[in-house]
Amino acid sequence: MNANWSRNAFVYLLILVAGAALFLNIYRPDQSPQQISLSQLADAIRKGTVQSIRVNGPEIQVIVDENQPPLITRREANVPLTETLVGLGVTPQQMARVRLHYEAPGNSGNWFALLLNLLPIIFIAGLFLILFRQSQGSNNQALSFGKSKARLFTGDKPTVTFADVAGSDEAKMELQEIVEFLKEPQKFAALGARIPKGVLLVGPPGTGKTLMAKAVSGEAGVPFFSISGSEFVEMFVGVGASRVRDLFEQAKRNSPCIIFIDEIDAVGRYRGTGLGGSHDEREQTLNQILVEMDGFGTDTNVILIAATNRPDILDPALLRPGRFDRRVTMDRPDVNGRMEILKVHVRGKPLAPDVDLEVIARQTPGFAGADLENVVNEAAIYAARRNKRMIGMAELQEAVERIGLGGPERRSRLMSERERRVVAYHEAGHALVARLCEHADPIQKITIVPRSSAAGYVWQISEHDRVLNNRSYFHDRIATALGGRVAEEIVFGEITTGASGDIQMLTSMARAMVTKYGMSEAMGPLQFGQQDELVFLGRELAEQRNYSEEVAELIDAEVRRIVDEAYTRVRAMISSNLDKLHAIAHALLDRETLNNEEFEAVFQAA
Ligand code: ADP
Ligand code: MG
Ligand code: ZN
Repeated sequence: MNANWSRNAFVYLLILVAGAALFLNIYRPDQSPQQISLSQLADAIRKGTVQSIRVNGPEIQVIVDENQPPLITRREANVPLTETLVGLGVTPQQMARVRLHYEAPGNSGNWFALLLNLLPIIFIAGLFLILFRQSQGSNNQALSFGKSKARLFTGDKPTVTFADVAGSDEAKMELQEIVEFLKEPQKFAALGARIPKGVLLVGPPGTGKTLMAKAVSGEAGVPFFSISGSEFVEMFVGVGASRVRDLFEQAKRNSPCIIFIDEIDAVGRYRGTGLGGSHDEREQTLNQILVEMDGFGTDTNVILIAATNRPDILDPALLRPGRFDRRVTMDRPDVNGRMEILKVHVRGKPLAPDVDLEVIARQTPGFAGADLENVVNEAAIYAARRNKRMIGMAELQEAVERIGLGGPERRSRLMSERERRVVAYHEAGHALVARLCEHADPIQKITIVPRSSAAGYVWQISEHDRVLNNRSYFHDRIATALGGRVAEEIVFGEITTGASGDIQMLTSMARAMVTKYGMSEAMGPLQFGQQDELVFLGRELAEQRNYSEEVAELIDAEVRRIVDEAYTRVRAMISSNLDKLHAIAHALLDRETLNNEEFEAVFQAA
């Protein structure tokens, strides 16, 4: 964009200069030399008006007045000028009064004038040359547009390995299998194992998805082809699909290798939901990716890795088995992860003895790897500007503040200690209630590392796929949702906005129990309200009321009763297990993330 602009500016400047030169040349009023004949010259010499004559090859410049441009005439070839002039009646005495200069042929005294004359031609020629080159260049570009711009990082010099990606142990473990396959495809082929074709790396920006994909190829020592989804979007119509074809062709020729599609959501967006019609180009590109993936035989040792921070908007066709069916999550790191990442980035940088990376790691919940890299870099810059030899704690701390307070969306990331405590107790409340409720799903993970939307979360997974849900399950889920709010209330005597998501969830769940599932004794097994699914949107949009005002009141009362009962139960539950709540919250404040075993240990110990 910028380079283009400056090039254009340059061309315009050239045109301007050439124009100006042309103007000056044509309208130079008395610069155009006046031509005279030889006999006119002879007359002038006889009259004595000629001061000097400059002979330059065949051209003769006659200077009558120092302040006037010379008159120009030409002598006859091979005849000395004096002879010609004498022949025209000039006496030798008259001739002697004129100063004669002979100049070496070719060393024209009028070079400058000549150049001035040629200048516009040169400029215009240059201009055409540039324009021509440019159009040819863009022509070339247009011709080669279909060719993939995929950059090849050759397998024999892998730059990054897993050692450069800190703290993402789970992701590394999952990707280890891919590395092994790429290293020794025959081993797997011999056993007839079906190797995943596509891996989807999911995670917020800056968590090291691109880095991880490169590390996989680095570990395996195979070539790495990469292209970004957003590159497809800016292309001419019909080019995206052919690029994809080229990319896959190149990759197959270099297999085993990795194809990395960054920001796949730019092309892989859910098709056909756009109200204003869909983007044909994008769709064709996406289709081509799907076609190419399906075309892979078991002998094609090419693995696709795609990255996105919006897995929710991806077209389901991309996620089907045989496509991107493997999903690896790259979350924002917890305190240990942040420590490891900091260690990676301070490698080779001089640190003052007062630096305690653990303190920095604790101060930066919610920072992604890229933010931490940035922290170290900023600190180094501060230190350099202060003419220090080493990066000190003060610089690191300043960098944390600077980056934490950076953009508006970052501002929330630097939580105060009190906020951290509130979040820890809130999540501990959810977890404790879920653990105590008989019908709730087991806890998989609790964290107070901020996500995009939530300050923390409790992840529960069911032991088996639920087809039918019973009433107790719903009651326990509502209780679990209330756990966060109630814990805040009991511990701090105050409530925050942190529970709004929970409240929305539990309200709609209680309402569904009454109006949809017929789970309320008072209302009976009836459906209230008609939910229209707008098929083309794939979502529930509107609820049509098909019941009276009185029934509406009854429904509201019933929903309220369900929630009230749950609330009383949860309050009792938490109050009688306060020591466990404190233990869980403290563990969270300390470690930020607890997996199911760690959680169980804390729960049992208290
Ligand atoms: P994403 O693709 O997820 O947006 P990147 O892979 O581009 O993130 O990460 C940007 C930079 O942040 C990387 O080049 C790396 O320096 C740093 N980074 C991110 N995550 C990590 C990590 N886990 N370990 C070390 N450095 C990291
Ligand atoms: Mg990236
Ligand atoms: Zn909550």
